[in-house]
Amino acid sequence: MHTRRAARAVIAVLALCLPLSACGQSSTGGSKEDKGGKGSTIGIAMPTKSSERWIADGRNMVEEFKKLGYQTNLQYGEDDVDQQVSQIENMITKGVDVLVIAAIDGRALSDVLQQAADQGIKVISYDRLILGSPHIDYYASFDNEKVGELQAGYIVDKLGLEDGSEKGPFDIELFAGSPDDNNTRYFFQGAWQVLRPYIDKKQLVVRSKQTKLEQITTLRWDGGTAQKRMDDLLTKAYGNESVDAILSPYDGISIGILSALKSDGYGTKAKPFPVVTGQDAEVASVKSIIAGQQTQTVYKDTRALAKQTVRMADAVLNDKQPEVNDTTTYDNEKKVVPAYLLRPVSVDKTNYQKELVDSGYIKASDLR
Ligand code: BGC
Repeated sequence: MHTRRAARAVIAVLALCLPLSACGQSSTGGSKEDKGGKGSTIGIAMPTKSSERWIADGRNMVEEFKKLGYQTNLQYGEDDVDQQVSQIENMITKGVDVLVIAAIDGRALSDVLQQAADQGIKVISYDRLILGSPHIDYYASFDNEKVGELQAGYIVDKLGLEDGSEKGPFDIELFAGSPDDNNTRYFFQGAWQVLRPYIDKKQLVVRSKQTKLEQITTLRWDGGTAQKRMDDLLTKAYGNESVDAILSPYDGISIGILSALKSDGYGTKAKPFPVVTGQDAEVASVKSIIAGQQTQTVYKDTRALAKQTVRMADAVLNDKQPEVNDTTTYDNEKKVVPAYLLRPVSVDKTNYQKELVDSGYIKASDLR
């Protein structure tokens, strides 16, 4: 840290020496020599503490970075875009060596990332791809399209529509994530590919007719917003009919949807809950799955994502090539960002014990 600060101070002084030739040195970019290994600081910008997963992501990364001798500066933007931008600006001013960012708004960081680039700070986009900036070096995430495929595939399976069955029609409603999160469209694309053939054959019917991404998004992934929309859908499109399945992209949204369903009398023998999907395997949702309310979630092992990201940052700081397994999918409009994608897993009542409890992701005692 001290070496790096000193190097920055020298660079700042040199920058004042114009023309540069008079100083006999170039002042462009941050110095690389002092990066790497012990003592370097990693700036970690996470979106919010309102969801369990981001708390765990931050904690896991701090632990993993510490094991390798790095220092960390972890900040949460609390879903406030300006706050996240100023947190990152602060990290740059304090002289972090690498930035790991899970953006609140994927398009709001171009200016601050230009500042990072000017200082020679490398950037890893964490879980959510940052758009419109050339200054993203790597991306660590899950196979996001696969997440949507797992959710939709689960619905198709549960309703018994697979393998040429002519069952139906079943009523389904669709929810998507925050419109400013790049993952939202990948989740929905993955789900839509699976659902569309059944919608075309009218085995699945969206009574509200809201099937376009812009009609079904949920700003900031907010459960309350989803609850209101579900209330509205039930009132306007259902009347005495009941809905059979809800594509929900995230557990917090699923819990909001379930509240609306409960208020409308769902959860009885005569009016059972529809199939409700989710994502993140949050404790409240796993409990809900065990209680027979939410039906499914997608488990993404955030411990593995943190480890992979730490490996990436460590490689970057030591001038090595980080491991990537996808160099084609994630185009952020300025470049195709080399990515490492992990595998999401569908979880329901039948496999939560093995996937979540036996793997140590959730403590059995937290589910009681
Ligand atoms: C993440 C999901 C999460 C959602 C809401 C997405 O970008 O990939 O895991 O459920 O944000 O926090």
